[in-house]
Amino acid sequence: MIPSRRESLMTVAELHRGAERQTVLLSVDFEDWHQLVRRRLGAPDWERPGPALPRQTESLLALLTKLDARATFFILGVSARAHPQLVEAIVAAGHEVACHGDAHRLVNRQTPQEFGEDLGAARSTIVALCGTAPLGFRAPAFSITREVDWAYQVLVEHGFGYDASQHDSPRIRDRVALASAAPHPLSLPNGGSLWEFPAAVWRPQRMRIPVGGASYWAVMPTSAVLNGLSRAGEFPGLYLHPHEFDPQPLNISLGSDAPLAQRTHGIVRAAQRNAARRRAPGVLREIAKRFRLIPYGEAYARLSDRAPARS
Ligand SMILES: [Zn+2]
Repeated sequence: MIPSRRESLMTVAELHRGAERQTVLLSVDFEDWHQLVRRRLGAPDWERPGPALPRQTESLLALLTKLDARATFFILGVSARAHPQLVEAIVAAGHEVACHGDAHRLVNRQTPQEFGEDLGAARSTIVALCGTAPLGFRAPAFSITREVDWAYQVLVEHGFGYDASQHDSPRIRDRVALASAAPHPLSLPNGGSLWEFPAAVWRPQRMRIPVGGASYWAVMPTSAVLNGLSRAGEFPGLYLHPHEFDPQPLNISLGSDAPLAQRTHGIVRAAQRNAARRRAPGVLREIAKRFRLIPYGEAYARLSDRAPARS
């Protein structure tokens, strides 16, 4: 079929834009901030759905639609089970669903068996809610560190095709030495194929400036974030969180019967997060003007020549 002139013009314009605009990978670590903070504070009912994730997700999905951007949502099992309708909304909006583990336990505090069980639980939840097995994984707090590189083998055994748990940030102790700042296949001792997609880091001279997360955007001028991303190599990765897009201030709402120390800690955590997240929507809008934002799975399919999803 011969395209109309209007269609041809659009295609040329898109090609032109694609050629000019660098591509950045967009992801969201989809977790319920209230669940995680309540667990840290020892609240017995921490698994119950927090009050803010629905409005955070709605606000984030609306912004992504406005920016014409699709993202990878690394879903946390315990949060997905508390908010199944939100996972459905994410899938319905055309975003990729990947895995952030089940209970947000750090990989470097687990045995291979525990990690496998956590992955299995998260994977089953995602398959039950989405009908598709996740291809990608991101460890909570980038916790696949040097001493737990067995984790990659466990990921392969559970059917994962790519990992996004490496972040060459000075704040992550014992981080894995990156073979490349760009996405690359990992060489695994027992075979199997797994690609690594590192988080965005700008490396002027010998410095390392993380530019992929909103907690860094909070303390950097937007121009530095944009400049850093343009120099962070091929397919730099962004990692965001729903709470960074909450239209209201975060509030732990523990109830007046909670112990004073718990309530105080909750107030401090909320204040820290509120300060760190303020600029996230504005900076993401500026990034979307300058870069093409795509989900990790799309880059993975392109690079590894594999189908973007398996069931
Ligand atoms: Zn997380």
